[in-house]
Amino acid sequence: MNQVITCILALLTALNLSGCAAVQPPVAQQVSGTMEVHFIDVGQADSELIQCGDKAMLIDGGNVADSSLVVSYLSAQKIDHLDYVVCTHAHEDHVGGLSGPLNKFKVDHVLAPVTNYDSDAFRNFAKYTAAQGLDITVPSVGDNFSLGDASVEVMGPQKLYDETNNTSIVLKVTYGETSFLFPGDAERESEQDMLDAGCDLNATVLKVGHHGSDTSTTYPFLRAVAPSYAVISVGADNSYGHPAESTLSRLRDAEVTVYRTDLQGNIVAVSNGKQISFTTQKEKDVQTNPTESKTEITYIGNINSHVFHRDTCDALPAEKNQVWFESREAAIAAGYKACTRCKP
Ligand SMILES: [Zn+2]
Ligand SMILES: [Zn+2]
Repeated sequence: MNQVITCILALLTALNLSGCAAVQPPVAQQVSGTMEVHFIDVGQADSELIQCGDKAMLIDGGNVADSSLVVSYLSAQKIDHLDYVVCTHAHEDHVGGLSGPLNKFKVDHVLAPVTNYDSDAFRNFAKYTAAQGLDITVPSVGDNFSLGDASVEVMGPQKLYDETNNTSIVLKVTYGETSFLFPGDAERESEQDMLDAGCDLNATVLKVGHHGSDTSTTYPFLRAVAPSYAVISVGADNSYGHPAESTLSRLRDAEVTVYRTDLQGNIVAVSNGKQISFTTQKEKDVQTNPTESKTEITYIGNINSHVFHRDTCDALPAEKNQVWFESREAAIAAGYKACTRCKP
């Protein structure tokens, strides 16, 4: 009889009605040694190497042009074998550079949210995966696996999305009492769906979604993750304006210590299971998230409505529709009218 009940319980657990594995409080595992997380500077792209004991996982590989850089970086870390290679989603700045590592190192498991995507970058990734004798595994929410003493859980994507960024595989890596969340380029829809599913998103370190774009790192998501540290993988002077000032501002409000690959190069986080220490390739003390915006622009106009606002107004236009003015006078001289809400 007891066996029947155990079976039913196991079945219910397997059905995973909440849509997320981590509804039960995470059990702090005993760890020995350290786990290293390398945020490799691949410019306007993502690539992270996680090493725990003799196990290693590579999440994304930057653009096609970063492939050999990532291979040399891994070789410098004495990597000759990757237990997991993860393509968070099919955009080139994530999957492009995975071909080199897949060609060079013995790999055990390859994860991606899709098995096909119409781009040369993805076709090459699929080709080198097949050359290893492997199939691409599409993980499900709730899947988990170990990486040495670390445990890895799949938090997203919760649904099938049309928007490729939202298809990003979202992984939480827990090591002792510390944890890292890697949301790829997941945007607000995916963030909200993980919240709605009751995922335990809380993490010590957040790899900021979508290179610090305004479309990710919403307040509710940030409150749930409640990170002490955030790392933004972003290219210097990129054409997207990443990281967005609005995202930086939310991270300031949440009192998160920010690291940035555009300013600090490669960033390495080392966890001993209780605390995390960071080392950066360059400019350790650079101001990564200054309170004042660099040029002290305080008025923001909407290029469509020709209304201007204080930068603190909650009716600011979308980033692509913004024009910034250094003074009230400059905005009026340009033919803009004051917002009736924030009364600049
Ligand atoms: Zn993307
Ligand atoms: Zn991206």
